[in-house]
Amino acid sequence: MQTTSTNQINTPITLFKHKLNTPLTKKKITVLQINLGKRCNLACAHCHVEASPKRTEELSPEICTQLIELIYKFPEIEIVDLTGGAPEMNYGFKPLVEAAKATGKQIIVRSNLTIYFAEGFGDLPEYFAQNQVRIVASLPCYLADNVDKMRGAGVFDDSIKALQWLNRFGYGQAANLILDLVYNPQLPTGEKFALAPEQTNLERDYKRFLKDNFNIEFNNLFTITNLPVGRTKMYLERKKLYIPYLQFLESHFNTNTIEHLMCRNELSIDYLGNVYDCDFNQMMNLPAKNAKGENLTVTQLLAASNLDLISEVQTAAYCYGCTAGSGSSCGGALI
Ligand code: SF4
Ligand code: SF4
Repeated sequence: MQTTSTNQINTPITLFKHKLNTPLTKKKITVLQINLGKRCNLACAHCHVEASPKRTEELSPEICTQLIELIYKFPEIEIVDLTGGAPEMNYGFKPLVEAAKATGKQIIVRSNLTIYFAEGFGDLPEYFAQNQVRIVASLPCYLADNVDKMRGAGVFDDSIKALQWLNRFGYGQAANLILDLVYNPQLPTGEKFALAPEQTNLERDYKRFLKDNFNIEFNNLFTITNLPVGRTKMYLERKKLYIPYLQFLESHFNTNTIEHLMCRNELSIDYLGNVYDCDFNQMMNLPAKNAKGENLTVTQLLAASNLDLISEVQTAAYCYGCTAGSGSSCGGALI
């Protein structure tokens, strides 16, 4: 069995690239995911970005200008997906939304919902509706205790108020105002690991519970596996569960997910303008490479007038999180 070395420990985890047999090739790029920075009003226990109110890293005006140029220059970009941290708090958020809107692309914001109650951000729900921004909002459980344990005291109540606010603007009901929720499993406390429940069934339960108890409507529920990256990785290491969790994920490897992995048709850009295959690789400092094995930046994409400079996706052991069971991506289960 091939092994990989993570944190200097030789582990019995099969190298992901050996599991695949063939290189994980890139398809035509249609999604631009921009991580605007690490500032966030929350500091969730599972955050793979290690975001918090104390972080200061964010997009510069120079990189923002380049990203706007990229959005205008490449009609093949169908989706501009804004993430963070809380993307709304980081420099360049509204200019990027407006560039994507002006060029007719779908705009996604990965929103924690609670930011709408922070000083200076109360206009966001109306702004989102005016710009027909698709909202993908974290709500890791429909039970208050579980959400507050993972994300902080009072987060569940604020999330509910925010969802009701969005509903009042037509989100979750009007065809052009899409509101999706994200479920993450609780972090494991012992070696009894579980994958996310089946997405369709869980969506039905979420819809029933939120409608009956809070009169909330939404469109889709995305189940997302906790990848052992960022705070989730640190937590697992503290509990001595990091290797067992990777083994668990590998034991559920599903080859049918490979065709649909989000890294195959997206570029992930960091606040410095560096290019990655996905946000997890970004957080683990595993840059995308061109055919010569060189790192890429937004400057180089613009100079080449070509987004398709990457032939092979960079992978690591945590990729087992995207390929376990029904698979996982920023858009939920893969199959
Ligand atoms: S998980 Fe999302 S809301 Fe929580 S700290 Fe990270 S970026 Fe902020
Ligand atoms: S973490 Fe997931 S999305 Fe990123 S490169 Fe690995 S398989 Fe692809």
